[in-house]
Amino acid sequence: MSGLSVIEPATEQVLAEVPRAGVEETDAAVARAKAAYPAWRAVAPVDRAALLHSLAAHVAERHEELSRIEARNVGKPIADARAEIEMVVECFRYYAGAPERLLGQTIPVAGGVDMTFREPLGVVGLIVPWNFPLTIASWKVAPALAAGNTIVLKPAELTPLSAIELERIAVEAGLPEGVLNVVVGPGSVCGRRLVEHPDVAKIAFTGSTEVGRGIAAGAAATIKRVTLELGGKSANLVFADADIAAAAAAAPLAVFGNAGQDCCARSRILVERAALDEFMDALRGEVEGIRVGDPLDEETQMGPLVSAGQREQVASYVPDDAPVAIRGSAPDGPGYWYPPTVLAPVANDDRAAAEEIFGPVACVIPFEGEEEAVRLANETIYGLSGSVWTGDGARALRVARAVETGVVSINSNTSVRVSTPFGGFRQSGVGRELGPDALHHYTEVKNVFYATEEG
Ligand code: NAD
Repeated sequence: MSGLSVIEPATEQVLAEVPRAGVEETDAAVARAKAAYPAWRAVAPVDRAALLHSLAAHVAERHEELSRIEARNVGKPIADARAEIEMVVECFRYYAGAPERLLGQTIPVAGGVDMTFREPLGVVGLIVPWNFPLTIASWKVAPALAAGNTIVLKPAELTPLSAIELERIAVEAGLPEGVLNVVVGPGSVCGRRLVEHPDVAKIAFTGSTEVGRGIAAGAAATIKRVTLELGGKSANLVFADADIAAAAAAAPLAVFGNAGQDCCARSRILVERAALDEFMDALRGEVEGIRVGDPLDEETQMGPLVSAGQREQVASYVPDDAPVAIRGSAPDGPGYWYPPTVLAPVANDDRAAAEEIFGPVACVIPFEGEEEAVRLANETIYGLSGSVWTGDGARALRVARAVETGVVSINSNTSVRVSTPFGGFRQSGVGRELGPDALHHYTEVKNVFYATEEG
């Protein structure tokens, strides 16, 4: 195995060197997971629950260390990293309740008793991105383990450090060797091998829509199950009857949080024309006030982008003649910095409004009335999240139902909770993570008929 240099985005320095896996190491990890599967699925539900609680407790014990790893490796503010690791703990705790609640049904039939079971799938391949490395991994690892599967987890090459720690923590927490295996290497090699591997029953993938398409096509060869959590270009709909100050105060971090590298980023801010001036005035102060800087500074609200390549990509959406209406600050010197930037007014089909930028660039798109708002919100290939800001309760629900996305929030920009389903419509994905729904994606329904009639 050759080495992989892990870079710290805020300093551009090497943070760690880790071995780089290839096909051989991926196959070995699948073989370990396959060998561990029969014993793991046979662990009594109450004991599997206890092991998930133990995993949660061991992650909680290392909360600060893992938060710092994530802050340094991704370049995210330490306060955000702490909240994310808290969510990892919560996720393991939530799914610790699942092994004992994987209920089947009994179905009335002639001649006997019919019952259903939720069976684990076997070895599952989990492929995750760099923006929320351990958090997104936990959304997959926790329900997969709870349902009795064994795992090969492949983190993004840019941010493998927290997943490497999780593999160690799992063993410390008492999980049998081979139940959770981590493979660090290129997606085009290790990820692809997981997709092709005949002993992998399912791929749960979070990443770009482009790579997701290839995974769906590759999985077809072995009829693998897939869950895809892909890109987004979510709309934040602000009606003139909303609390405009509150909508403007909440809008910036709904795009610039995690430096815009968030699949749920409300990067299209649709504002009813009657409230446009008031909204832009309020937005200016909020954007200019965002504290961009050292991720390890407790006051920082936005860090650098994850890599030089990502910064280049983001900058390509803001050419010299772009309609930059508001620009925040960014430090000079080393680090992949990019200031929070608001483009306004923008047409919904402009490149910056149509494509996922995955950086701190927001587009403000004016609209007239509810019908146009919904039409513009839905004029995209994506369907992940979105928000509706209005003082009219009936409109709030009407618009929330009409927007074609997997998650919508009203008078709020929060999308993600451990106990509620998360995922996309259209080209934002297939399947749901979190909440009760995720378990269904890590089990198959088996129907058993038991004849009871004599003769
Ligand atoms: P990416 O698609 O480039 O990579 C994601 C993962 O897939 C990485 O681990 C990568 O190594 C692996 N990969 C790359 N090529 C592969 C291949 N051919 N076969 C198998 N695996 C392969 O995405 P990224 O740049 O790491 O993350 C950004 C993207 O992720 C954005 O589009 C964002 O919207 C999306 N995302 C979606 C969600 C969601 O829940 N919907 C959450 C976070 C990020």
